[in-house]
Amino acid sequence: MKPFRHFDAESVDEALALLTEYGGKARVTAGGTDLLGVLKSEILPDYPEAVINLKTICGLDGIEADAGGVRIGALAKLAAIADAPIVKKYFPALALSAASVGSPELRNMGTIGGNLCQDTRCWYYRYPDKMGGRVPCYRKGQGPCHAIRGDNRYHAVLGGRKCYAVCLSDPAIVLTALEAGVKTVRPAGERTIPLADFYDTLGPVLDPDEIVTEIRIPAPAANTVQRFSKFRLRESIDFAVVSVAAVLEVAEGVCRDARIVLGAVAPVPYRAVAAEDVVRGGPLDERQAGLAAEAALKDAKPMSGNAYKIEIAKTLVKRALRL
Ligand SMILES: Cc1cc2nc3c(=O)[nH]c(=O)nc-3n(C[C@H](O)[C@H](O)[C@H](O)COP(=O)(O)OP(=O)(O)OC[C@H]3O[C@@H](n4cnc5c(N)ncnc54)[C@H](O)[C@@H]3O)c2cc1C
Repeated sequence: MKPFRHFDAESVDEALALLTEYGGKARVTAGGTDLLGVLKSEILPDYPEAVINLKTICGLDGIEADAGGVRIGALAKLAAIADAPIVKKYFPALALSAASVGSPELRNMGTIGGNLCQDTRCWYYRYPDKMGGRVPCYRKGQGPCHAIRGDNRYHAVLGGRKCYAVCLSDPAIVLTALEAGVKTVRPAGERTIPLADFYDTLGPVLDPDEIVTEIRIPAPAANTVQRFSKFRLRESIDFAVVSVAAVLEVAEGVCRDARIVLGAVAPVPYRAVAAEDVVRGGPLDERQAGLAAEAALKDAKPMSGNAYKIEIAKTLVKRALRL
């Protein structure tokens, strides 16, 4: 690893001041489970001069209810989210998604802020510098996306355009379906970004000097059914090949409202609006689930090696809609 300055921030203001002082040449870290790998592999053209540890800031790891719903501090560990009674009670799909991340070690180190901001795992993008040189690509601002002509079995089937790396945060998929917001702070002040707008093709839309401080999840409507499922090649320590989150408001057997989000199929959490339109207002039966699954993937454009993802996604959507 190349040397860098390391700071233990004691407050968000101190972290912001350090980010400003280093003018784009500093990175914040929380659990370090993603960032340290990125730095060790030296995949990025620009190496940070300073790393600012947020874990030393007190009070950013709470999980608590308020009048509007639940607030989760950016430093809350994934393990704490998976186990929190309040999360299990009101947002069972979020608890499931947090529990599905990596391994116990990763969930005990990794934070929700770091999970939402983690870098992609595209194997061209993450190819380590020490194994023959980093691979320049569109995401690094230096060339084409190699998945287009290369081995793209884990890449996007929806909305790739110039970069086909996928968003692999499991909690992000569920939080999008729950219509959560990400509260941040930057020198210009605070803002709340809906999860639905938190990513673009190249990752989180944060400014280089912006810090996530909290996730806010609105209270669920009565009679809400929540689902999360994830297909992966290994049962543990593996990222999703495809994941699905569904939040369904059901009354007397009729689906009043639905939010269905697919993960690992697009550069951002993919809201399957066409599938939602199919199920909204009708019974949730096998036929509707099948129609919704077809609608969810109707815009998919597979590349040479990833058409299998479409069939897996349809199956997960069907299962998520089975009451
Ligand atoms: C083997 C392995 C398996 C994994 N499997 C899964 C999986 O199945 N599902 C899944 O969702 N994830 C998975 N992950 C990713 C894992 O969840 C992330 O590494 C972890 O959540 C990142 O959290 P962290 O606190 O360690 O972040 P860090 O590594 O500290 O930071 C990650 C990124 O977020 C930024 N960041 C951190 N905190 C903030 C903040 N508060 N504000 C702004 N930016 C911030 C950092 O600058 C960095 O760019 C896996 C990782 C590994 C290594």
